[in-house]
Parts: sequence; C-alpha cells; structure tokens
Amino acid sequence: MKSIFKTLFLSELCQGLYVTARQFFARPHVVVQYPEEKTPQSPRFRGLHAQRRYANGQERCIACKLCEAVCPALAITIESGVSDDGTRRTTRYDIDLFKCIFCGFCEEACPVDAIVETRIHEYHMENRGENIMTKDKLLAVGDKFEAMIAADKAADARYR
Ligand code: SF4
Ligand code: SF4
Repeated sequence: MKSIFKTLFLSELCQGLYVTARQFFARPHVVVQYPEEKTPQSPRFRGLHAQRRYANGQERCIACKLCEAVCPALAITIESGVSDDGTRRTTRYDIDLFKCIFCGFCEEACPVDAIVETRIHEYHMENRGENIMTKDKLLAVGDKFEAMIAADKAADARYR
C-alpha cells in the first residue's frame, strides 16, 4: 500500500526536487571565487621546484646527486664538475616536470636545503621543452621567491 502511494504521488521525486531547490537558493558556503579568492596553503605544499642560494649569492647545491638517486620518477638529471673556486658544482641540473610526481623526496634528501618545492602552482607551458626546469630556471625561481621559501621552511621546522 505504501509503495503504491509513493508511486502514485511521486513522493520520492518530490523529495529530491525539494533538496535540489533548497540547495539552489541557499547561500553557497563552499564555492571559492578563484583566482580572486584562494584557499589557505600549507607551508609543506609541494609545487614548482626551485634551487636556493646562500645569502652571499653562492649556490647551495654541492652536486652530491642524492636527489637524483632518490627520485622515484627518474625526473632529475645532474652532471657535475669542479668550479673555479675548487668546489664541486652542477654543470647541468634538469628536472622534467612531466615525469615528476611531486613527492618531495628530492627536498627531503638534500643535505643543504638546495632543491625545494615551493608553494607555486599557477604555472603553465606553451611550447615543447618547457617542461624541463633547467638549473638557470630553477635558480631564477629560487631568487624570486626566496623570502617565501625561507618563511615556509621556518614554519615547517616548527611542526617537526
Ligand atoms: S618531487 Fe619527487 S618525483 Fe619530483 S623531482 Fe623530486 S623526487 Fe623526483
Ligand atoms: S640539490 Fe641537494 S641533493 Fe641534489 S645534488 Fe644538489 S646538494 Fe645534492
């Protein structure tokens, strides 16, 4: 009897329409008007990579290749040599962003905090080959966002 009543008066359909109508006119609580509005990001967010320098301008990277060894996606390619001041430095440091899975292992493995993943996620590529982050590109990202990187590192250290 109950099921006949439901079938005749389409009560379940009306219930569904009522829920839809209620949500349609309700004030949205979840929608974020991106890009004007943005949700908070963790200091541990793993976005675009960067290579950092010390305050005196010297590259942090010592070409130890730990990041290359630990990378599960084989996304990092490093070649090294001896620089003018006798220290070992990279002559080539490439990250293939198409291979990278943004796991953060490279950052974890680096003994001198040279390679980091920044909170930058708004980037794109338009031409073939732009997926390769060369050493120059990585250093340029690091130079531009060093203040943010240093602040995130300090905030992250407080959690540990
Ligand atoms: S984030 Fe992970 S996958 Fe990407 S380069 Fe670093 S270690 Fe490799
Ligand atoms: S980025 Fe860090 S882990 Fe990778 S080669 Fe340079 S110093 Fe070593």
